Amino acid sequence: MNTNEMKIEFDSKSENESFARVAVAVFAAQLDPNMEELSDIKTAVSEAVTNCIIHGYEGREGKVKLSCRLEDKTITIVITDDGCGIEDVEKAMEPLYTTKPDLERSGMGFAFMEAFMDDLSVESELGKGTKITMVRTIKGSKVQS
Ligand code: ATP
Ligand code: MG
Repeated sequence: MNTNEMKIEFDSKSENESFARVAVAVFAAQLDPNMEELSDIKTAVSEAVTNCIIHGYEGREGKVKLSCRLEDKTITIVITDDGCGIEDVEKAMEPLYTTKPDLERSGMGFAFMEAFMDDLSVESELGKGTKITMVRTIKGSKVQS
């Protein structure tokens, strides 16, 4: 099986949202994704990283860890923070559920991650942090010969 892995760690600053999104996109590019697949992956990464920064650390300093693993045509992205954690993961994943309506959050982050990726899993412990694992298999644009 053809595999490739990368790991990055960055400060929980909103400036790093675009860094994370682009870093994953460039790494994923070796699977020859089409534009839609690439855009889906970027959106999902963006939502997960934003959540770490806004909810996990609530603006405090902290580190966000991101790792990507390619296995043939499948990309697995793991994003973790050591922030406040989620009390009720099931509830948090419901569309439109947000604990920060005052910040103009729409509560759609998890719904987007779920819609744009093939698989999403959320592990979280109060006071310890949150780990998001997302998987997507790339079909690509190449015509099969
Ligand atoms: P939107 O993503 O639409 O701006 P949102 O971030 O509130 O709004 P979701 O991304 O779906 O919506 O997250 C739902 C809720 O889950 C959040 O409001 C927050 O309470 C909790 N949550 C999500 N990610 C984390 C995290 N990394 N750490 C702590 N809490 C989180
Ligand atoms: Mg969100």
